[in-house]
Amino acid sequence: MAGSIEAAPPLWLLAELTYRCPLHCVFCYNPLRYAQTGAELSTAQWVEVMRQARALGAAQIGFSGGEPLLRDDLEELVQEARSLGFYTNLITSGVGLTPARAQRLKHAGLDHVQLSFQDSTRELNDFLSHTRTFELKKKVAAIIKQHDWPMVMNCVLHRHNLPHVDKIIEMALELGAEYLELANTQYYGWAWLNRDHLMPTREQLEQAEAVVWRYREQIGSRCRLLFVVPDYFEQRPKACMNGWGAVFLSIAPDGLAMPCHNARDLPGLQLPNVCQQPLAEIWQRSAAFNAYRGEDWMHEPCRSCDERHKDFGGCRCQAFLLTGDAAATDPVCSKSPRHDKVLQLVRSAPERRHIPIVFRSDAESRSL
Ligand code: SF4
Ligand code: SF4
Repeated sequence: MAGSIEAAPPLWLLAELTYRCPLHCVFCYNPLRYAQTGAELSTAQWVEVMRQARALGAAQIGFSGGEPLLRDDLEELVQEARSLGFYTNLITSGVGLTPARAQRLKHAGLDHVQLSFQDSTRELNDFLSHTRTFELKKKVAAIIKQHDWPMVMNCVLHRHNLPHVDKIIEMALELGAEYLELANTQYYGWAWLNRDHLMPTREQLEQAEAVVWRYREQIGSRCRLLFVVPDYFEQRPKACMNGWGAVFLSIAPDGLAMPCHNARDLPGLQLPNVCQQPLAEIWQRSAAFNAYRGEDWMHEPCRSCDERHKDFGGCRCQAFLLTGDAAATDPVCSKSPRHDKVLQLVRSAPERRHIPIVFRSDAESRSL
């Protein structure tokens, strides 16, 4: 199949500059074995990746991690991205965004900032990230506003903070966020490991969503509230990445190119590396980017389903994690013969909460 399809260009380049991070979030989306990956790309290598991605057609770049502010060359990379014509986003925990650094990033042309919070309370924010960062994040939000950046506030939701959704929204309004992404936990990486501790109840989700709707009516366009659907409680899967190898290109700190930032753990993919192959060849012809592109790979029930153009059969990483088969129908779908497994995991989560919660750390990552 590789080489048989001329794919449309990627629109989104996610540059995961580093897996290093001062926080230790229990739901971190980085791979479990991040500390066992190779050396980070150099400044010159990232510049080359950006040039090639722009030539391919990518229009937006997200500088992410880990914590991208741990890279001393972030300003240089932002400046280069802007001069190439990218719209630039910084996706950050806030740690390291000092006034001086913010000024340099503004000067470099940074367009947009996404700042994560773990909760509206200091206690839970600091517990979930295993750091004292709550007050710092509030200061960083003020710095972002002082520099006139549009600000997305992001908060991952789970059973511990779903009852605080109203307070989280109030905090976003107080800090002047233009968007608030209320991201129900997606169970990958460290969230997969801590799934039972994070799993909410349906009642919690319904109450939180009702609160979100109430606020939407009250505040109108003052702050856009995005409520990311809670996968395990749905009847249909998300249109993951808008289709495999369709619009999204993720480059890991060690140069691995992936159609989705969770794809590292999928078996048998032989992910290409930007240090060894030109990006155009990776995007168009690599076996990994063509593995689940389009519809030829689908099995039943997706193959003959009239909804396959809407959700592309769901998420390949989720299918693999829940069934051991990356080409299976995402079990979140009620048409999947394995949908029961999702229902069962939700029901039985409280029974496994005696297993200790695991905070993301280099030591844990090396031991996994
Ligand atoms: S989820 Fe938390 S630990 Fe993971 S990269 Fe983001 S801030 Fe760091
Ligand atoms: S069967 Fe497949 S294509 Fe149809 S709705 Fe479910 S996941 Fe989507």
